[in-house]
Amino acid sequence: MTLASPTSTARGTTDPWTSHAARIVGITEEIAGVRSYDLLFSDQGQRLAYRFLPGQFNMLHLPGIGEAAISISSSPARPDQLTHTVRAVGNVTDALARASVGDAVLVRGPFGNAWPVDRLDQRDVVLVAGGLGLASQRALIVELARGAIPCRRATLLHGSKHPADLLYQQEYAGWQASGIDVHLIVNTPSPEWTGPVGLVTDIFKTLPLVPAETTLLCCGPDRMMTAVAELALKQGISPAEIYLSLERNMSCAVAHCGLCQFGPLFVCRDGPVFRHDQIARFLAVPQL
Ligand SMILES: Cc1cc2nc3c(=O)[nH]c(=O)nc-3n(C[C@H](O)[C@H](O)[C@H](O)COP(=O)(O)OP(=O)(O)OC[C@H]3O[C@@H](n4cnc5c(N)ncnc54)[C@H](O)[C@@H]3O)c2cc1C
Repeated sequence: MTLASPTSTARGTTDPWTSHAARIVGITEEIAGVRSYDLLFSDQGQRLAYRFLPGQFNMLHLPGIGEAAISISSSPARPDQLTHTVRAVGNVTDALARASVGDAVLVRGPFGNAWPVDRLDQRDVVLVAGGLGLASQRALIVELARGAIPCRRATLLHGSKHPADLLYQQEYAGWQASGIDVHLIVNTPSPEWTGPVGLVTDIFKTLPLVPAETTLLCCGPDRMMTAVAELALKQGISPAEIYLSLERNMSCAVAHCGLCQFGPLFVCRDGPVFRHDQIARFLAVPQL
């Protein structure tokens, strides 16, 4: 199956307020406090209708507890079976951490725009992911790895605090074998760690970039994304070729509640993926 269309959004056939019943059909313990949940819609019609693009997110709803925005981290080629990678940090995510295979979850979405999948052909694509930010890029990485999204060259830089926090460790060899140049770096090494120690920017500085032909896709803590973007700009990458995926608290996901407002933009509706030149001046405002 190929991607639905190289546009920036995709939706199922239903209205954005409707939650659809799904069951947890698989759980993977990724790293401490982080699990991936494979979800299958209960309704056959919804399984057939649902479509998404890499970078979009769903609102996962546990009745009586609440909803949380979570990136879809599986391949859009299998929109009937969705994976979400979740860190337990609060009401909904803690409840998910107690859930088992067979339990029900309501799914509302998909929401937001996508990584610029239709602009990567013939480009050198550099993906930079800090910590759990890799979850929002995994759908794209899987598609790049299987050649469904063409690009000239793909490089992934993934950084975490400790080696044990590196996400999707069992998948790096496959991504590398499919031609993606995978670089890992940690802030604090363990005795067994033989890789580089530092920040993703340390690796970024060493890449043999062709700035005019490079597109940068970044997801992680704001401070990390700001540092990577500044470095990329210094190296000559166009601000229009730097994309950052933002996370903000959100509730409605349809630009009504205002919780995720970012200057004049709404992260749920206008993002979560933004071009650097769209948001640079708001990123510079503390607390926004
Ligand atoms: C587009 C997008 C994609 C995302 N993708 C992912 C993903 O793939 N995986 C993932 O794990 N997360 C993801 N998130 C983050 C996730 O949506 C949030 O962490 C969400 O708040 C978790 O919901 P919760 O109910 O479990 O936590 P909450 O109960 O909302 O708590 C979350 C955090 O906020 C703090 N908090 C809660 N209430 C308050 C308050 N009133 N005042 C101050 N602090 C408070 C809590 O202490 C906790 O640290 C994404 C967010 C966005 C916007």
